[in-house]
Amino acid sequence: MSIIKLENARKSYGELEVLHGANLSVDDGEFCVFVGPSGCGKSTLLRMIAGLEEISDGNISIDGSVVNDVDPAERGVAMVFQSYALYPHMSVEQNMGFGLRMTGVPKPDIVRRVHEAAEILQIEELLARRPAQLSGGQRQRVAIGRAIVRNPKVFLFDEPLSNLDAELRVQMRVEIAKLHERLGNTMIYVTHDQTEAMTLADKIVVMRAGRIEQVGRPIDLYSDPNNIFVAGFLGSPK
Ligand code: ADP
Ligand code: MG
Repeated sequence: MSIIKLENARKSYGELEVLHGANLSVDDGEFCVFVGPSGCGKSTLLRMIAGLEEISDGNISIDGSVVNDVDPAERGVAMVFQSYALYPHMSVEQNMGFGLRMTGVPKPDIVRRVHEAAEILQIEELLARRPAQLSGGQRQRVAIGRAIVRNPKVFLFDEPLSNLDAELRVQMRVEIAKLHERLGNTMIYVTHDQTEAMTLADKIVVMRAGRIEQVGRPIDLYSDPNNIFVAGFLGSPK
């Protein structure tokens, strides 16, 4: 069953159209990766699904309802940013619970959900620390934890590993795959890294210059790319 549907979704900034009518369906529980060179519109598309960018034309549906005018907090999605976007003056525990506090979740429930997420991410011993006292990998876990506590239908990741060194990237990539296995939620994951895309994805969406070039399973894109661009980008034989 499809949980996210884009129908001719377009985005313009002033006169300039940067997304030229995207059509896409993401299944419930699927790990979907948007991949493509810098500037091709990956973040724009993700932010439109999150409700952080207005949609200029077309429709975005989540779980059967058109969400074009629905508030980001009401969409059942949670976004993990490349920059982590943690509050420096708050502890890890407060950072992770902040979104829940804002929506009026009772304190004991917040504590329980934060501790559950911390256990999943193995950061329980870090809950009292401030972001400045964490390594890059630990900050990334906190940013993911902040999304988990909201129990979203869909996780949205925008290049979550690009600020980490090569070794940690591989480690976190494995952890994100495990997280998906454990939670079973739909995940949409943006990267410009072909290896990340090929190893994480159930479904890859290859983008170029504001268009979706091809959608398919990694093996299909590898063995049967639509064109030279897709082949070249994913390192496949065409
Ligand atoms: P990606 O995430 O694939 O690197 P983006 O979605 O960030 O690409 O950007 C797609 C295009 O939209 C780029 O040409 C970028 O310059 C343009 N763009 C993004 N945000 C804005 C903005 N706020 N105003 C004007 N142009 C923008
Ligand atoms: Mg981007």
